[in-house]
Amino acid sequence: RAKELGRDNFQLFDANMNTELAEHVAIEQALRRAIGTSQIYLEFQPLVDLQSGRLTSFEALARWRHPELGVVSPGRFIPVAEKSGLIVPLGEQILLMVIKQLHAWQQAEVPLVPVAVNVAPLQFERTDFPTRCHELALQHELDPKWLSFEVTESAWLQNSTKSVVMIDTLRHEGSKVYLDDFGTGFSNLSYLKHLPIDAVKIDQAFVRNITVDAGDAAIVRGVLAMAKQLNIDTIAEGIETAEQLDYLREMGCHRGQGYYFSKPIPVDQCRALLEEMDEMRRFTETVKARAL
Ligand code: C2E
Ligand code: MG
Ligand code: MG
Ligand code: MG
Repeated sequence: RAKELGRDNFQLFDANMNTELAEHVAIEQALRRAIGTSQIYLEFQPLVDLQSGRLTSFEALARWRHPELGVVSPGRFIPVAEKSGLIVPLGEQILLMVIKQLHAWQQAEVPLVPVAVNVAPLQFERTDFPTRCHELALQHELDPKWLSFEVTESAWLQNSTKSVVMIDTLRHEGSKVYLDDFGTGFSNLSYLKHLPIDAVKIDQAFVRNITVDAGDAAIVRGVLAMAKQLNIDTIAEGIETAEQLDYLREMGCHRGQGYYFSKPIPVDQCRALLEEMDEMRRFTETVKARAL
């Protein structure tokens, strides 16, 4: 449109739109150069069993530190990466980083938990995605059971038959598949029964006001009841307070993630958590064995 209107009419665009567009272009160019470099790194956020309070797994979250722009949030660069197609090489880099990290821990005999990787709809459009993941894992001597995948509803709705086959393949290799940001899409809840997934992640939009908004509480209750019927696990995102935790636990939600437990943390801090968790497990086992 800018071209049609000609240079002289550029002022027709309001200043905000101009900066937004310029920012988008700048981010895209910078991101193109960042992919494959150490500007891209990861943080892992713990997921916790709401009954026992134990660490069950991590979610890998992409981070980007640009030498001049500083830390750019995923909320800004992931949409740019998705629109430009850069999410495909970026996603591959992230997957590879997760696999290498898990492999390094395995070599160092650190007790592992599964790590979930976010998969953008564009990545999931590629039919070879599951085999590619499997290949990469095997190349690094990693059992795919240590990898989980988070897909969103939009990835599904584009081609549900193809998606079902891909999910089946990932799960057949031993990976878990989660439906991310559940409830924010435009679909109705009943389609859950067609998805061969392991867990739904209830979006933090419903968790945020769960203790004060009867509507949100009712929606979450509905999701939990349906998931139970379908034998699907439930994970609540964005738990920030003890009240939210109590509420969700009483409602029967299995797992949770949120600042109340931990913010996403630098990957090199995870090792201590994993070792601590293992020590606790051994301690409980010893106590149990003694009691027998
Ligand atoms: P998501 O997959 O739903 O990830 C959860 C987001 O919620 C993360 O934001 C996490 O830091 C944030 N979060 C967790 N607990 C709390 C809480 O208690 N309170 C609040 N306010 N926030 C919480 P983050 O890291 O900024 O990522 C935002 C989104 O960017 C992700 O949402 C995901 O959609 C996307 N993203 C991040 N990393 C990747 C990636 O490697 N690949 C792809 N395709 N998308 C990614
Ligand atoms: Mg996610
Ligand atoms: Mg989510
Ligand atoms: Mg979210």
